[in-house]
Amino acid sequence: MATQSALVELLARLVGFDTTSAKSNLDLIAFVQDYLDGHGVTSTLVPSEDGKKACLFATIGEGAGGVGLSGHSDCVPVTGQKWASGPFTLTERDGKLYGRGTCDMKGFIACVLASVPLFKSVALKEPIHIIISYDEEVAAPGCRPLIARVGTDLPQPRVVIIGEPTSMQVIDGHKRIDVYRTTVTGKEAHSSLPSLGVNAISVAAKLVDEIDRMAAEIAAKENDLHFEPPCSTMSVGMIEGGTAPNIVPKTCAFRWQIRSLPGAEIGHVPEALAAFAARDLLPAMRKVAPAAAVETESQTSVPAFSAPPQSEAVNLAMALTGANRTSGVSYATEAGLFEQAGCSSVVCGPGDIAQAHAADEFVAVAQLEACLKFLDDLTARLRA
Ligand SMILES: [Zn+2]
Repeated sequence: MATQSALVELLARLVGFDTTSAKSNLDLIAFVQDYLDGHGVTSTLVPSEDGKKACLFATIGEGAGGVGLSGHSDCVPVTGQKWASGPFTLTERDGKLYGRGTCDMKGFIACVLASVPLFKSVALKEPIHIIISYDEEVAAPGCRPLIARVGTDLPQPRVVIIGEPTSMQVIDGHKRIDVYRTTVTGKEAHSSLPSLGVNAISVAAKLVDEIDRMAAEIAAKENDLHFEPPCSTMSVGMIEGGTAPNIVPKTCAFRWQIRSLPGAEIGHVPEALAAFAARDLLPAMRKVAPAAAVETESQTSVPAFSAPPQSEAVNLAMALTGANRTSGVSYATEAGLFEQAGCSSVVCGPGDIAQAHAADEFVAVAQLEACLKFLDDLTARLRA
């Protein structure tokens, strides 16, 4: 098993790269590539379209199939958060390692990298693949171009373990995420004569209210206890509009998302919102401003994940962790995409999702030790 000091050193290096999703991850990827090179492992980079980011795919051992260990290198912003110590400097206090990304999910990547000497030291009957991606945190997984190459010029793992922070619990399903942007176009007017304008913010407020109403309607119908909450959810996360208090605003745009249960039919929601606007809002708006409009566009979508019964990946993760039950989660991962690409997938990794996006993010040393043991047992299973 890899030593704890090697692991902590690797994690400190990974945390030191500010890989907030909006920034480049190339320095981190270069570090990982160098590290793997040093252990005689070559890797393939799959760059993003603009070349500012890259995914990495590396294989240890030979043959078809194998087990993929997948982690995303990006992390969420620290903007507006109050940290007790520098977010990009790994700091240990009371058996916990603090730093941005320690839990989500550089801790897992560090465990995988620290185990490379172990993977190299045995004859494997099936290869181990290391997969590092980007842009997972912005619901636009950067692993898509990489997954598109899996099974063509990149090997196709038989099983993929996505090491998101599950406290080493076995996760066999997650919700789907759809992100939308709705734009209201009204008409500007001096605020002393509001009836000459169409107030886009007021219209947006009614649409937001309708989204909340539809969410409550869906929540009342669904009850899948494998998930918490046991229903599809919708929420508005960002809004912008207006230029000054004395101007009736012409435009207002807001972004919202739906997190739906696997198999839930939510495609009608944007249409239902458009129908609500056409019936209850637009007629009055267009009397004042014929060009008034309400438009909703889909921005991104991450597929749900639902492992089939007798999933190889789920069975493997249960055997390695000793778990006797599985659960579902409400955050999305790359598991749905890998499963669609024909790789049996499971989500299982160190750290608690509760700490993932918060200030003073940490991963408990005990969790990393459990992950190292997991990788140790995996190696033993793959030994020829
Ligand atoms: Zn994550």
